[in-house]
Amino acid sequence: MTRVLIDCDGVLSAFTEGWLRLINAARGTSFTPADVTGWDICASIGIPEDERGAVKRLLAECPRFAARLDVLPGALDGVRRLQELAEVYVVTSPWNSHPTWTHDREDWLRQHFNLPHSRVIHTSAKHVCVGDVFVDDKTSMCVTWAEAHPSGVAVRWETPYNRRDTWAGLSTGSWDELIKIVSARADDARSEQERIKRVVKEVCAKYLSDEGIYGYDNRIATEAAERLTK
Ligand SMILES: [Mg+2]
Repeated sequence: MTRVLIDCDGVLSAFTEGWLRLINAARGTSFTPADVTGWDICASIGIPEDERGAVKRLLAECPRFAARLDVLPGALDGVRRLQELAEVYVVTSPWNSHPTWTHDREDWLRQHFNLPHSRVIHTSAKHVCVGDVFVDDKTSMCVTWAEAHPSGVAVRWETPYNRRDTWAGLSTGSWDELIKIVSARADDARSEQERIKRVVKEVCAKYLSDEGIYGYDNRIATEAAERLTK
């Protein structure tokens, strides 16, 4: 079955909105996600370098931060539709300075998306995860995953903070568009499986003995491999 690896923050969960709420409350500001036009939120909204440690602590010290995030618009229905086409795994980088991050994230994904813990992978080494389609809002993650999986499809999830990054691959912020991409990939995989079955059947029939017994024969494997790699 086609496997989709999908990011959480910025694709499913409103991470930027959640952190801005903390920042605005603590500093009396009124930033919105539209103000965040680069990957580094602090730099984007002009927080001086010597104050960024304190701003990051706001998040690290917020109880159950990851469990309290909003779901991004369209994500619930989008994941439900993806699950009709593919097996969906959430691949998410943990915020290591938060003491309960991974537990909170799993609770949130189960509560909102009914995803079991076994479908959640916590790692910043996302390129080691194997799948057919990879979706992430971090351009560098898409680049490293695409390099590691040249036959896979990496899709950068479009946001105001990644639009200026260089990225030659597929990019969308539309669930309808993502469903189309995954659907096309699932169709390709089905066609390929049918081709493999057909070739193996034809080659086996060619070498099948008159008695109808398949004796394992290197000629079968060799010819099937030759035809499949053409
Ligand atoms: Mg993300």
